[in-house]
Amino acid sequence: MRKVVIAGNWKMHKTQAESLAFLQGLMPQLEAVPEQREVVLCVPFTALSLLSEKLHGSRVKIGAQNVHWDESGAYTGEIASGMLTELGVRYVIVGHSERRQYFGETDETANRRLKAAQAAGLTPILCVGETKQQRDAGETDAWITGQIKAGLTGIDQSNLVIAYEPIWAIGSGDTCEPEDANRVISLIRSQLSQADVPIQYGGSVKPANIDDIMAQPEIDGVLVGGASLEPDSFARLIHYQ
Ligand code: 13P
Repeated sequence: MRKVVIAGNWKMHKTQAESLAFLQGLMPQLEAVPEQREVVLCVPFTALSLLSEKLHGSRVKIGAQNVHWDESGAYTGEIASGMLTELGVRYVIVGHSERRQYFGETDETANRRLKAAQAAGLTPILCVGETKQQRDAGETDAWITGQIKAGLTGIDQSNLVIAYEPIWAIGSGDTCEPEDANRVISLIRSQLSQADVPIQYGGSVKPANIDDIMAQPEIDGVLVGGASLEPDSFARLIHYQ
């Protein structure tokens, strides 16, 4: 059975005080989350330590949003895997489209980050996805196939999550049709050597569409931006039907 991973990606949101307020709202809603569901919050570096401490022993695991490929060095603004594991961080997002678009991330650098994350015992969440232009040109399948091939070169698939996030669906309110996301995720799965890699969908996931998305047979979870910022909304996603 593949694991279900429901993950929030806070992106560049929430101070420590705001993170604490979120926790106060979320904690009472963590009861009765089905056992086989993994719940993850990928938060800014500055909130990792606090959330890791407060959520220790709870159902929520903590994730970061980036990791460097070297263990240390002259890389101003970057963060090393050992700095994350020391704080109890378990997951890390790698190759998010916002990192690719604004910060020069490529399949090659994502691949190096994946290797470093796994070497440190972190579970990387590799993000892939096509632009609107690529989708309209019928290039989705070829593009995704290329991203998966390049991103996963030499990667151990036994400790890995993949997130299919069509770029045009991120933050737009314009969700990919669940059947369509299911089809692309099935294409991704056909490229993997291990059968049990969880593959998430991401892009305008919210309480109103989570049940339909999770009803798709190939979709093993979600990676959620906006709707993970508010405790009641995130709790509803965790408790999908
Ligand atoms: P939204 O859920 O805000 O569309 O963001 C999706 C995303 O980028 C998660 O990584």
